Amino acid sequence: MRELRRDPVIGRWVIISYERGKRPSVEYEKEPENDSSKTCPFCPGNEHLTSSEIIAYRQAGTQKDKPGWWVRVISNKYPVLGIEGSIKRYGEGMYDRMDGIGAHEVIIETAEHKKELPDLDDKRAEDIIWAYRDRMVDLKKDMRFEYILIFKNRGKAAGATLVHPHSQLIALPMVPVRVRQEQSGAKSYFDYKERCVFCDIIVQELSSPERVVSENDDFVAFCPFASRFPFEMWVMPKKHDSQFDDIQKPEVSSLTQILKMVLSKLNRLLGNPPYNYLLHTSPLRVSKVPYYHWHIEIMPKLTKVAGFEWGTGFYVNPTSPEEAAKFLREVE
Ligand SMILES: [Zn+2]
Ligand SMILES: [Zn+2]
Ligand SMILES: [Zn+2]
Repeated sequence: MRELRRDPVIGRWVIISYERGKRPSVEYEKEPENDSSKTCPFCPGNEHLTSSEIIAYRQAGTQKDKPGWWVRVISNKYPVLGIEGSIKRYGEGMYDRMDGIGAHEVIIETAEHKKELPDLDDKRAEDIIWAYRDRMVDLKKDMRFEYILIFKNRGKAAGATLVHPHSQLIALPMVPVRVRQEQSGAKSYFDYKERCVFCDIIVQELSSPERVVSENDDFVAFCPFASRFPFEMWVMPKKHDSQFDDIQKPEVSSLTQILKMVLSKLNRLLGNPPYNYLLHTSPLRVSKVPYYHWHIEIMPKLTKVAGFEWGTGFYVNPTSPEEAAKFLREVE
């Protein structure tokens, strides 16, 4: 079967090409087994191997850059952008240049070398979400930054260089194009219908829940209609909010619950696949808006993006989101 589907937010077309009832063949690179906590720079006792901590949630009486923490945020040793300097733009004929200013931080999610978010107890797992929020609130005060992206690369094929569970944060001096596309797609939908496109998606998905994987009081997780990748999932707050950093205590706990649930389903169904997730929220200098709705996109890395995708911006997805959601619902 083959079908073309259009993403209602940014208008991107996706080719869903699938055989009914067939799981995608999963052939991803397995992780190296030689990785040990003795040499791991993110393990307690090895704090001297990383840059000094920015914040940490740690036991009272323990020292900075010493063991006793359960979440620790450091700057990335190999930052893609540097924190020092001012935002200067230069022209060179018709071309534009800008200094590479930005913040690049690593959120070490746990002191335990191999405990992923679904394996952590609730309080510890919630603290990962609090760390995301705390860093966002703090970096937002730096007026040089326009956007903050929080993301996770899990597994070598998804770009992770270390096994120890961690996420990353990048603060940018501009709003990246993917985010701008989403913002402007959502804005046009709002101008036309006077409703938030994401709120509408939630209503539609819940009213005929064939793509819903899980829901609780505050969040819903589903495989989006125009999924680019097999088992792609979006996690959205049911209540409209354009900014992630508005999140309050009860929502932090519901978000943790649903993330633990869907990530462990993904792990069980596909045998700990590599994946990326990313958190999309409003640009920093945009105050609350009625047309945008923050969310998390989870993208397992099971297929390769190749020439056709690069050349057209189309994606070819061999597993329909309806089937993906069914498999995910069924796995414990
Ligand atoms: Zn480690
Ligand atoms: Zn909304
Ligand atoms: Zn998004």
